Amino acid sequence: MNLPQVKGRLEKDYFLNKLNTWRIGGQAENVFWPEDINDLQIMLNWCKKNSIPIVLLGRGSNVLLPDRGLEGMVIVTTKMDSIFWNGDSVQVGAGYSLIRLATEAGFKGFQGLEFACGIPGTIGAAIVINAGAHGGEIGSLVEDVRVLTPEGKIVVLNGEDIEFSYRHSSLAQIRCWVLESTIRLKPGGNSSDIKEVMKTLQHKRRQTQPLEYPNAGSIFRNPPGYSAGQLIEQAGWKGYRVGEAEVSEKHANFIVNKGNAKADDVLELIRIIQQDIKNKYGLVLEKEIKIINS
Ligand SMILES: Cc1cc2nc3c(=O)[nH]c(=O)nc-3n(C[C@H](O)[C@H](O)[C@H](O)COP(=O)(O)OP(=O)(O)OC[C@H]3O[C@@H](n4cnc5c(N)ncnc54)[C@H](O)[C@@H]3O)c2cc1C
Repeated sequence: MNLPQVKGRLEKDYFLNKLNTWRIGGQAENVFWPEDINDLQIMLNWCKKNSIPIVLLGRGSNVLLPDRGLEGMVIVTTKMDSIFWNGDSVQVGAGYSLIRLATEAGFKGFQGLEFACGIPGTIGAAIVINAGAHGGEIGSLVEDVRVLTPEGKIVVLNGEDIEFSYRHSSLAQIRCWVLESTIRLKPGGNSSDIKEVMKTLQHKRRQTQPLEYPNAGSIFRNPPGYSAGQLIEQAGWKGYRVGEAEVSEKHANFIVNKGNAKADDVLELIRIIQQDIKNKYGLVLEKEIKIINS
């Protein structure tokens, strides 16, 4: 089947482990990096017309991709990285790096994104899951979002009309793709103070998170009133391994890839931990990461 004429890079039989921070996953049949919204739409229409399944990815820092690979089309947004500053607001493409945006905002003396300086994802995915840390969340800064609806329509939504809650937004519910967003920041900050705050937060992360190994951030959401990491540590799972996937010694809510971990190893670890926490404490640990199967 002839692929459509697009500007962005297209690869066949591409290893998924290059597309996620866990470095896990088999081969993708096709991978496409759209250059802009138009490029994305051309591919989307072609896939729809030919009944080709699509998986959308940003930086792959919150996903587990399958060992057996993915058929169809994997679309990676990282080249959709336009940026326009306009006073204290900034319009960014879905694929723009959140860490880069936080750093650039800080340099300009804008406050609000300090919390995001250690979240290694794209702005698009961050908005959909309302990424947050250290008491801050992206949802509170969103002025508007341009989305692609499941019906293929492009719509602009006001930030106020989107529901944001702990690691969730109404955009996920209606299965919209974020194309770009306007983020409003707080002007008048001192860039060296902001830089100092971010340095402290990054230092804290290096001390408490296993950033020396491939990982995908927190595996489980915190059950109301509890810390998932503390529960798993208390239950004695730190250092436990299935294959080369290991519950981090540094932070029990992280599973690290100690070499050649498989998605199936991670899934087995997740299953064992969920079962044990349910048995011991009567609590359900819900996954924060997204398991991609098809
Ligand atoms: C070391 C480390 C630390 C982390 N710390 C934090 C933290 O403090 N707080 C936090 O919230 N997260 C954290 N994360 C998780 C992750 O970085 C965030 O969830 C991030 O927002 C995911 O972005 P991504 O581009 O990597 O998304 P991906 O992993 O590529 O995708 C995640 C999901 O979003 C979907 N998606 C991707 N792009 C779009 C789009 N444009 N429109 C609609 N859906 C889309 C995908 O289909 C998938 O279901 C951490 C991860 C790591 C590895």
